[in-house]
Amino acid sequence: MNKYFIITVDTEGDNLWKPVIKSTGMRKITVENADYIERFQALCEKYHFIPTYLVDYEMAMAASFVGMAKERLEDGKCEIGMHMHAWNTPPVFDLKYKRGSHNPYAGEYPHDVMWKKLKLMTGLLWKQFGEKPVSHRGGRWYIDPWYIHALQKLGYIVDCSVTPGVNWQRNIGYECYGINYTKFPHRAYYMDGKYLYKEKKTGILEVPPTIMDYPLNDRISAVIKNPLAYKEIIWKKMWLRPNGNNLEDMINIISFSEKNSCDYLEFMIHSSELMPGGSPTFVSGRSVERMYSHLENVFERIGNSYKGVSLREYAKRKHGG
Ligand SMILES: [Zn+2]
Repeated sequence: MNKYFIITVDTEGDNLWKPVIKSTGMRKITVENADYIERFQALCEKYHFIPTYLVDYEMAMAASFVGMAKERLEDGKCEIGMHMHAWNTPPVFDLKYKRGSHNPYAGEYPHDVMWKKLKLMTGLLWKQFGEKPVSHRGGRWYIDPWYIHALQKLGYIVDCSVTPGVNWQRNIGYECYGINYTKFPHRAYYMDGKYLYKEKKTGILEVPPTIMDYPLNDRISAVIKNPLAYKEIIWKKMWLRPNGNNLEDMINIISFSEKNSCDYLEFMIHSSELMPGGSPTFVSGRSVERMYSHLENVFERIGNSYKGVSLREYAKRKHGG
């Protein structure tokens, strides 16, 4: 079986972990991290991997990123897809500040407003990068059947918003909570305007990021050591996503995955995590360097047994095969 390696980058403004709707209105969203993405692109190219940049509104307007990515796109060295943050994508639908609320999920906006936003973003990415986007990831890992139907109508073929095994029902949006993906499959499958998971091979291909449970023995010994943290330990997952302290987890994921029946690994990172201070995870230059040294390890290891493809390319192979 051929195994494929997919790199997804949520390409978005700086520090979107902080709420954007303030009592004084929407705060300014800066895009300083746009200048830091080229280094990551070069790393991908070193290992012959093809990153898929899932780009939101402010980054589609950030000249330095657009210039870099357009050139690489023309050479087949990256893919541009859509990442939707409904709060600042035109037409802006004003949600007033609410104490205790966080950044809204797409499902909290009226459908007609969301449709206009999705249409505008699709046209904007096409105009800015010169190619029609076909890959998508929802902001804050949100997707629903109406949303999938809208993406289908706009010509999208692949989505990667579903985080298998992860429950976002305790994460507040504006006033609603996220989706529970606990029972969703850890492999690619299809979905449409009725179902987020179906057996029939039509509709949009969902290619979830690689997320795994810790081995049972590890979880049991962690609970024995720290019984009070029982719930946290049980729900904690390994992601193929660097956090500065999980090199061992990421290497374990690769070795488990080499032996299992899933034909891909999907890595994820936010563009803002590539810049010191762009995220709460990598605040200093040193932490970013440490992250890059982890990435070298991980990419080198993956390069031994996986072939780098864009999300679009993976979906096309699935459709064909
Ligand atoms: Zn995002």
